[in-house]
Formats: sequence, structure tokens, C-alpha cells
Amino acid sequence: MNIQTAVQKAQLFLKKKNIKTPVLDSQILMSEAIKKEKEFIIFNFDKEISNKSLEYFNKLIHQRARGEPVAYLVKKKYFWKYQFSVNKDVLIPRPDTEILIEEVLKLTKNKDNLNLLDVGVGSGCILISILKDKKNFYGTGIDISKKSLDTCKINSKNLGVINRLKLYKSDIDNFHFRKYDLIISNPPYIEKSKLKYLEKDVIGFEPKHALDGGIEGLSEISKVINRSSELIKKNGFLILEIGFDQKWKVKKILENKGFYIKKVVKDLSNNDRCIVSKKI
Ligand code: GLN
Repeated sequence: MNIQTAVQKAQLFLKKKNIKTPVLDSQILMSEAIKKEKEFIIFNFDKEISNKSLEYFNKLIHQRARGEPVAYLVKKKYFWKYQFSVNKDVLIPRPDTEILIEEVLKLTKNKDNLNLLDVGVGSGCILISILKDKKNFYGTGIDISKKSLDTCKINSKNLGVINRLKLYKSDIDNFHFRKYDLIISNPPYIEKSKLKYLEKDVIGFEPKHALDGGIEGLSEISKVINRSSELIKKNGFLILEIGFDQKWKVKKILENKGFYIKKVVKDLSNNDRCIVSKKI
């Protein structure tokens, strides 16, 4: 069978299974199956593929049809300017989260030698992207999942920042180390009762402990704010990702803990997504 026939059959199959982007997904999975760039596929539609590659391709397509995210199938995801290794132990980096990087870079434009803490570091996409762009910053990442720290370590090694990054398996409540200039976090913030309404790709495959924010969706965010008020230096910044409807409640929690709200930033879909605050 040639590439074109295989890809077209896969597209129809994925479409029938209600996958939203059947054309793109089939092309990406073909490029994974034959270990070539996506562009190669487009320019080599008439090329025959081996039985072994076809078998692997069909397996990937069937996994995708069941909802498994493409990023987990190809074991990587681009975020900011970099490629991160991902697997089922970490949340897949979202384009919306890139606004946190933009805000941190704006706040720290003329700053040197800052110490950053990322609470719930996961794949490391936020902290590692900042360390890549700010060559004299130092990072500490904590996470309750040992497996996510293993993935973060691989990413920090691949992207050359391992020497400026420390990782600890810890809950924020049990982390007492030093004071930080800047704290970032994309904690789990989905209301427990709403988890079941998330897309199948998300709730069926991504780590629940990275999504579940408790009864009101605010348990983890509150914990991060409470402890950050002790772990942050005076005039230090706390940059949080939040749920689209959590702005007012999170602002209140921040103000109660002595933070001044500098700004709330909207994501690509125009939802409130990031709160930048300063410890006063
Ligand atoms: N934005 C994520 C989603 O797609 C949620 C991430 C989080 O809880 N931190 O559902």
C-alpha cells in the first residue's frame, strides 16, 4: 500500500470515530510510523510503505480512534520554542500555558540570577522554557509524582538546563527550603464534579491528579497561594494558571495572603487564564 492510500483510509476511519482533526492526526501518526518528517509524507504520497510500518501505523490509528492523544502516541509535544518528551505521567503542555512564559519574560526583562520555583512541575515545560530563555536563572521544581519528575529530568537534560535545575518529590505543604524571587504554578484546577465532562482525550488519558482541583476546583490553587506567601521573597512575583471562571475567587485568596494583583491575562480563546501577583 502507498502512503496516500493508507493515510486516506485512516482519515476516514478517524472521522467516523468523531476525532476532530482526522487529516492532521493521520499525517502526524504516519510520520511517526515511518520515522520521517510530516513534509516527507506530503511530497511522497505514492511511495510504498513496508508491512511493518503499516502495521505500526494501523495500531497508532486505532489508539487515536479510542481517544488517546497524539502527543502520547508520538511521545512528544512542542511548547514555546522547544520540544518536550511526554508520556501518560505528565499533563500534555497546552498552548494556553505559553502565556505564563510571556508574562514571566516581561516581568524579568532586566533581571539577573533569579531563583524560580515551579509548583507541580510536571513535564517541566514552564520552568525549562524560562531557564532556556534566561541563561542565568536557577530553577526548582516540585511535584507529588516521582514519574513526572523523571520525565522533567529527561527534558532538562535534552534541553541543556539540567545544571540549573533542582527537582524534589514533594507536596507544597511539606516543602520548606528557601525563599524564591518568583513562583509559578499550573496546579490542578478543574472542579471534581466537572471532570467527567472534560473531553475523552483528556479525562480518559491524562493524569487525573494534574486536573482534579477538589470540590470547588480551588483546593490546590489555595494551597499554592498559602504556602507561596511564605516561600516568596518580598516583592517577589507569583504567576498562576487558573480556570476560566476562577478570577474573582483567586484574586480574593491572593489579596488575603498579602499579594497585590498586577494583572489577569486572557488565553487564546479569550478566557481569563493567568494571574500575575506581587508579594507586598
Ligand atoms: N487546562 C487544562 C485542561 O485542558 C487543565 C489544567 C489544569 O487543571 N491545570 O483541562
